Amino acid sequence: NPPILEVSRLRIDFSANQRPLSVIDDLDLTIREGELVGIVGESGSGKSITSLAVMGLVPSPPGKIESGEIRFKGEDLTKATPKRMRQLRGNEMSMIFQEPMTSLNPVFTIGDQIGESIRIHARVGKKEAKRLAVEALNRVGIPRAEEVIREYPHQLSGGMRQRVMIAIATVCNPSLLIADEPTTALDVTIQAQILDLLRSLNREAGTAIMLITHDLGVVAELCDKVIVMYAGQVVEEGDVRSILMHPKHPYTAALLESVPGRDADRERLISIPGSMPAPGTVTQGCRFASRCSYATGKCRERVPPLFEVGNDHVSRCWLNEAK
Ligand code: SF4
Ligand code: MG
Repeated sequence: NPPILEVSRLRIDFSANQRPLSVIDDLDLTIREGELVGIVGESGSGKSITSLAVMGLVPSPPGKIESGEIRFKGEDLTKATPKRMRQLRGNEMSMIFQEPMTSLNPVFTIGDQIGESIRIHARVGKKEAKRLAVEALNRVGIPRAEEVIREYPHQLSGGMRQRVMIAIATVCNPSLLIADEPTTALDVTIQAQILDLLRSLNREAGTAIMLITHDLGVVAELCDKVIVMYAGQVVEEGDVRSILMHPKHPYTAALLESVPGRDADRERLISIPGSMPAPGTVTQGCRFASRCSYATGKCRERVPPLFEVGNDHVSRCWLNEAK
């Protein structure tokens, strides 16, 4: 499939006390049409800011896209006007977040909120908008949709609110949906249902999905491809099976070791000794070196490039350098 999103050499700085700190550094990633790609990393790895950059929502100031390109269907979004970005958002690309309560407006009914996003995209009357809203709710598996459209967000459970958000985000049939930790706030059974819903959207409507998560278990179940981020960089990228079975970066290997078994508590947090360096603090060498048991002098001195380690599989680690 042709690429729908191509990020290349992206650098994003945030200024703190007049000093620019790089939070995303030399980021490359590709998502193809209809692909379901997982972006994995600890909090602070740059996953969320990457997705905000794609949506044109990096808070600026203090954020700034310093260099690089974000090509969406060939168009470089780093050069797009705010007007153009508004057109793309909600038409061609949309986003759902961890806590749907914060994205839904508490004082409007579900029907009003879906109806509004429908009417932004299509010239339809109130009655037709209502019919389409019911249809959209049915599509995301909401029972008794005719009643739900008259209800307010607080009357729904967390899982139902997330379904409503997915309905709103996909009502215009976007070609790219970004889901930032969409199931983190939900209990395990509901998580599984929401993930199933995302999968069927991907399979049936062909929507490419960029799924941001800290949970490799979720990635294993759902994704075609994985991108592992660490301290603002991609450290490993490839086909989900090849990464899960043969990780080629010590960080990915450590993440995999910290994934609990299927029936264990899925909410357990990743724990690798040490902590991720703050933006701007590693000025040379591999950013994982302070936590890596394989680190050598070379690792501390020279930034590893992304080495090809298989078919469409790359790793930013000196261990993969051809001897
Ligand atoms: Fe560890 Fe060196 Fe590889 Fe970095 S480059 S992950 S420090 S072995
Ligand atoms: Mg985040």
